[in-house]
Amino acid sequence: MKVIIIGAGTGGMCLAHGLRRAGIEVAVHERDRTRTSGLHGYRVGISPNGARALKACLDPELFATFVATTAAPYTKLAMLTERYRPLISIDFADLPHTSGDPEDGEHNVSRMTLRQVLFTGMEDVITFDHRFTHYTQHADGRVTAHFDDGDSDTGDLLVGADGASSRVRRQYLPHATHTETGLVAIGGKTLLTERSEQLVPEQVRHGFGMYFDRRGQFGITHMVRMPYGSRSDDELLARWPGLRFDNTTDYVSWAITTSRSIAPADLLERTGADALALAGELSEGWDPRWLDLIATADPGSTVALGIRTADPVPAWTPSTVTMVGDAIHTMTPGRGAGANTALRDARELRDRLVRVRDGETALLEGVGEYEDLMRRYSSLAVRESLEFMNDNGTARRPVIGPLSVMAQRTSMRVVDRIPPAKRRMARGMQKVRDSELV
Ligand SMILES: Cc1cc2nc3c(=O)[nH]c(=O)nc-3n(C[C@H](O)[C@H](O)[C@H](O)COP(=O)(O)OP(=O)(O)OC[C@H]3O[C@@H](n4cnc5c(N)ncnc54)[C@H](O)[C@@H]3O)c2cc1C
Repeated sequence: MKVIIIGAGTGGMCLAHGLRRAGIEVAVHERDRTRTSGLHGYRVGISPNGARALKACLDPELFATFVATTAAPYTKLAMLTERYRPLISIDFADLPHTSGDPEDGEHNVSRMTLRQVLFTGMEDVITFDHRFTHYTQHADGRVTAHFDDGDSDTGDLLVGADGASSRVRRQYLPHATHTETGLVAIGGKTLLTERSEQLVPEQVRHGFGMYFDRRGQFGITHMVRMPYGSRSDDELLARWPGLRFDNTTDYVSWAITTSRSIAPADLLERTGADALALAGELSEGWDPRWLDLIATADPGSTVALGIRTADPVPAWTPSTVTMVGDAIHTMTPGRGAGANTALRDARELRDRLVRVRDGETALLEGVGEYEDLMRRYSSLAVRESLEFMNDNGTARRPVIGPLSVMAQRTSMRVVDRIPPAKRRMARGMQKVRDSELV
């Protein structure tokens, strides 16, 4: 059996590792040797679902490298008003985890470093500068992937791991559409110094902060403290081969999410200092420390994002084409579940393909089983991620808006004082990040 994967992103590479370790022939085709997308230099939160998939698919040594290169874990998640008044504060120690093992925990990872880890030892598997254009399915079920340089590759199964704008999905399931949520965001990085640390509320100086304003906008801060201290690059490389980029600088990652109805029409075209200035304007009336955090950010780090979500797709008949990750279920960043769901897909599909290799199941049966399961957990993750982002939507309505903000703030403060209610809420938030809690 030969598996062809389109896209060397998080999901595609985790699957490629898992298959190669299982002795299944695999070829990955990736269009970009170097990723330039705005988020590439940012963190991504790997949940227990994601960590378990990485543990299952990577060589133990590489999984250890992944763990060793993660930034300091969070101690707290706090929700506050835009004036930094506390609403709810949750200790990560109180979040339900199944064990203290790395595969059951939350990890704060640099996307660049994760990509380096996932590329390690896979030079013979990935072909770069191969932009997939379309596939052809043959009568015997085999599939040929075609690339824009005229090359092609034929295998028994084609896996689209080519992200939210997937060409595999557009050809295979053209009716699987996306909806613009009407939400847009500007994010940036401010170097973490003694001064900038003071610009973040104390309770989230080692954690994750969420800030809700009265106009239905919300902000986030992530403290990204790298594990490298003052060690030299040589020492690092000796210890963790494969770590080539400088991802050693600590920073505060922040973002403000707003609605197209509030933001200027050209928000998505804004870059650099222009985008920073706009983030400041949108935050008018917020705590002066927040405004300072934005004003002192690195203009080159800013990203402006439109937020899309996948529409539900009815079940389809399995074939020798399938998909993992954003290619089939792009979701809003509301629950930080997109990459983790892509990783879970990789693990679930790998498990079924191992059974196909062992003759325990037929290929289409294995693919169908994976797709049934994937549709179930990914539709929950897409829905929950969207609901979270929309929660604040009523704040933007005339008349009931201010009332809903008041009600939301009161209920958060009440929940904060009732430990069992707070635990239930934390558990609800973790549901799509840790399938063992469902
Ligand atoms: C602001 C923000 C914050 C987020 N935070 C989190 C978080 O904390 N936790 C989390 O789990 N998720 C998070 N996500 C979601 C996460 O980034 C994505 O869900 C995840 O990257 C999807 O992985 P993937 O492997 O499916 O696709 P990708 O990582 O997008 O990989 C797709 C790959 O396919 C390649 N490709 C595309 N087209 C072609 C083609 N035609 N030919 C060849 N190659 C191609 C691309 O170059 C790329 O390498 C966040 C998203 C956003 C927007």
